[in-house]
Amino acid sequence: MKTKEGSGQNGRNTHTPNILLPNDHLERVPAWGGASSSISHVYRPTTVEQLHNLLQLAQQSGRTIGLRGGGNSYGDAAMNSENILIDLRRMNRILDWNPDTGIITVEPGVTISRLWQYVLEDGWWPPVVTGTSATTIGGCAGMNVHGKNAYQKGPIGDHILQFDFMLASGEIITCSREENSDIFHAAIGGFGMLGIFTSITLKMTRVYSGLLDVYTEARPNLAAM
Ligand SMILES: Cc1cc2nc3c(=O)[nH]c(=O)nc-3n(C[C@H](O)[C@H](O)[C@H](O)COP(=O)(O)OP(=O)(O)OC[C@H]3O[C@@H](n4cnc5c(N)ncnc54)[C@H](O)[C@@H]3O)c2cc1C
Repeated sequence: MKTKEGSGQNGRNTHTPNILLPNDHLERVPAWGGASSSISHVYRPTTVEQLHNLLQLAQQSGRTIGLRGGGNSYGDAAMNSENILIDLRRMNRILDWNPDTGIITVEPGVTISRLWQYVLEDGWWPPVVTGTSATTIGGCAGMNVHGKNAYQKGPIGDHILQFDFMLASGEIITCSREENSDIFHAAIGGFGMLGIFTSITLKMTRVYSGLLDVYTEARPNLAAM
């Protein structure tokens, strides 16, 4: 993600930097597989205001911004070598929960694990759960992840009702199927290239127990499922 001023084609903001970034945020960040890593200026904001300040820091220092949730992407999607990497895991508050409707609003750093543990108490479950539950809701929305029930429930984007989205300019807009719908559909599965999810509202699925009855049934092909 390049901040608005001086956006360039070469992966860096092109205007002359006003400041140098301090070295104390430099970290080696591994890709999930552990086979590769890169060094970035890593920041871990806890508030929208801090996030906004980081966009300004990127402009002033001529650096690009990469976003990182749980860092579970197999490749380098959650890395940003020699530039700013914003780790969103500390923005992890549950902002609103309605146990009657199953509609929840969370900050992007809430993990699937935390989400299911939170809503199960009231008889709900996330509609889409990835193979690891260390993923964050922001990262899941960024990749529009699927669960093993994708053939029935679709990807997670189908269950997102609304989100607040910080653009590269720092402006926050609300997106839904009715409001800013083009950005709503582009940002879900947008690989964190268009802006930052700062809060996400999803609809949970009703369950009556956390226990599962598991049975195996073989089908010859997809059409027979
Ligand atoms: C063991 C394992 C099992 C998996 N199982 C599945 C599976 O069943 N189904 C499936 O679909 N995937 C699966 N994955 C892949 C994983 O679910 C996705 O890569 C998911 O996006 C990772 O979420 P994360 O929070 O770790 O995001 P990250 O890997 O940190 O980031 C993913 C993307 O989202 C962007 N992003 C992160 N936060 C934000 C934000 N707040 N705003 C905007 N963009 C943001 C990042 O820039 C990046 O492009 C699995 C991965 C592992 C390691």
